[in-house]
Amino acid sequence: MTLRVGLLGGTFDPIHFGHLRSAVEVREYLALDELRLIPNATPPHRDRPGASAQQRLEMVCLATASDASLLVDDCELQRDRPSYTVDTLESLRAELGAEAALFLIVGWDAFSGLPGWHRWEEILQLASLVVLQRPEQDQELPEVLKDLLAARSVGDASAMQATHGEILCLAQTPLAISATHIRSLIQAGRSPRFLLPDSVLGYIETKGLYRP
Ligand code: ATP
Repeated sequence: MTLRVGLLGGTFDPIHFGHLRSAVEVREYLALDELRLIPNATPPHRDRPGASAQQRLEMVCLATASDASLLVDDCELQRDRPSYTVDTLESLRAELGAEAALFLIVGWDAFSGLPGWHRWEEILQLASLVVLQRPEQDQELPEVLKDLLAARSVGDASAMQATHGEILCLAQTPLAISATHIRSLIQAGRSPRFLLPDSVLGYIETKGLYRP
């Protein structure tokens, strides 16, 4: 049996129910053996996070503690350089072997910026892509990604059987939650409760994160 592993990378600044619900739905829909959440250390594509890498990792661990099928992989935090997805995929390939099916899960916003990623054209040689719809998505795809979708898209999960190289666009339960919104609520002195797990909110309050 082929091992099927989903990979959800992110800044998780902080992790919220948009990430967690997507993770559970993709795991079930693609019948994954495991799903790894991979916090990034030095995100190459964005401003410095409000919480440290260690704090973001601890929040991801807290959020997933009650679900044994959601694993936390801190491989990007072990590296002393920017978190390039292609490097992570290469090391996971080396760890899991050529026979494993790897599914890199990205939101639509992240996918639309794919051509800016380091060695992005090699990503599909290492994994398949699962592109999550986001309710507020308004990014127009560049031509190169429209062509890629036309060439590599599969219609549904049952067609997604290769170890790498395919793309599935997935409409899951739409949750218009973003870490940006959660941070701005806290900055404004308002509560982000019920947008993220209580355990994560408790951690944010204890550490005084995201306050002005
Ligand atoms: P920020 O608002 O700080 O940019 P974010 O909420 O988009 O953060 P990230 O850690 O950047 O969270 O996201 C990690 C991955 O999860 C990305 O691929 C992103 O597109 C996806 N994602 C985040 N929130 C949702 C959501 N509500 N629904 C679906 N996908 C999401």
